[in-house]
Amino acid sequence: MLQLAPAAPACGHTTCTDTAVVHWTRLPTAGELANVPADQQADAVVLVYACGTHAIGLEAAALVHHSTCSGPNAAALPACDCTPVQPPQPAALDLTTLASGWQIAN
Ligand SMILES: [Zn+2]
Ligand SMILES: [Zn+2]
Repeated sequence: MLQLAPAAPACGHTTCTDTAVVHWTRLPTAGELANVPADQQADAVVLVYACGTHAIGLEAAALVHHSTCSGPNAAALPACDCTPVQPPQPAALDLTTLASGWQIAN
């Protein structure tokens, strides 16, 4: 039986056609944000793909890049041309500790 797998995403560098092996996130552009439901716009991000050659540094990849970031951009590697920011931290849970020691979310 022939099984067809979905194509792996390609590297986002403008002149590269290699298969991506890493990804990071950036904020959506205004045009991309227009396609996101209103209640999800606040934490919407876009995945950016790169091959091993065009991957940005691991520390930069852990951050959220600006919508105008040109990465992966060979001229700027291993960095990029924006100042990425920390991803939003999940809100702390409001917990109650039961007599048995369990903690449950309120
Ligand atoms: Zn590439
Ligand atoms: Zn960037």
